[in-house]
Amino acid sequence: MIKDQIKKIIKPAILNAKAYHVPDSGNFIKLDAMENPYVWPDEIKMAWSAYMAQVQLNRYPDASARELRKKLGTTLNLPDDTAMMFGNGSDELIQIIMLALNKTSNVVMAPEPGFVMYRLLSSLLELDYVGVPLNNDFSLDLPAMLKLIEEKQPAVIFIAWPNNPTGNMFEQESIETIIKATAGLVVIDEAYHVFAQKSMMSCLQKYPNVLLMRTLSKLGLAGLRLGILFGANEWISEFEKLRLPYNIGTLNQLSANFILQNIGLLEEQAEQIRNDRSFVFDALINIDGVEAWPSEANFILFRVARKGAEYVHAELLKHKILIKNLHGAHPLLENCLRVTIGTAEENDAFLSKLKEIMN
Ligand code: PMP
Repeated sequence: MIKDQIKKIIKPAILNAKAYHVPDSGNFIKLDAMENPYVWPDEIKMAWSAYMAQVQLNRYPDASARELRKKLGTTLNLPDDTAMMFGNGSDELIQIIMLALNKTSNVVMAPEPGFVMYRLLSSLLELDYVGVPLNNDFSLDLPAMLKLIEEKQPAVIFIAWPNNPTGNMFEQESIETIIKATAGLVVIDEAYHVFAQKSMMSCLQKYPNVLLMRTLSKLGLAGLRLGILFGANEWISEFEKLRLPYNIGTLNQLSANFILQNIGLLEEQAEQIRNDRSFVFDALINIDGVEAWPSEANFILFRVARKGAEYVHAELLKHKILIKNLHGAHPLLENCLRVTIGTAEENDAFLSKLKEIMN
């Protein structure tokens, strides 16, 4: 009875989907989700809790997050007229952009392998998703992209820069060629900006069809859920209509305000992660049977063809080390795994166990 009702009422796209699965990480060494591994020093924690004491939870949050908007503008040195919209993580911003698409122009395009949410949300929202395979070296296949842009006339193209899960940055020139070739929007997703230290922010001034997205998640605030979309006011004001008025709670707004005053701490942590990334990369390529790709993000993609990704992943799990198994996610990711850069101790534990497994 309930099954029949569900079938009648719920969209096929939802019925056929699986809920996004997040493994329970318990007391594992958690190197699967691109989190910053460092906690705050005690004095910062104390200052934060004192700052949070001003919170008035009886009131709704500031629906436009004015204070945060101002602080972010100053921290990022943004021109005064840059429009921005906040999301409950950039995941929510991706969803809002997709929800806004016209029924008659609902093709979403992204290079693949890429960030899974572009495909997943397109499918849940019954949009027409076109994944364009990268070249074998994970560079953009520009001729293929241009051909499909011409054929499919995408409403939006998502480009993660650096790309997840490959960790590389596509040629800026190729991205600009795509921006010029499409009649639709191009969303440049700079989730890993703090590790790449390069930005295409200047494209916002150059091209009216560009939006740029950042998140505080990888910087060290994954628990906060705060994504930011930048772009021309004309675009942002349309998307704002879909944003639920109080999507960023008061606790989140205040915490973000606080941390933006202490941004140096997170930037130092990011610098440490960048240095440790070189160490982990060098160690990986020196393990027999491991092929690794250089990364501009806080993770490294590597292949273990001889032992097989399923086996290596399972062996690491047995030793309470959690990384991401990408085998089966895309043909280019055969026997690939992705490891997030952790603390020095976590990286050592991972590397020494991997060495043993590869032996
Ligand atoms: N974009 C990319 C490229 C990502 O890899 C991720 C997270 N893995 C996100 C966006 C989502 O980030 P958020 O935590 O802000 O939702």
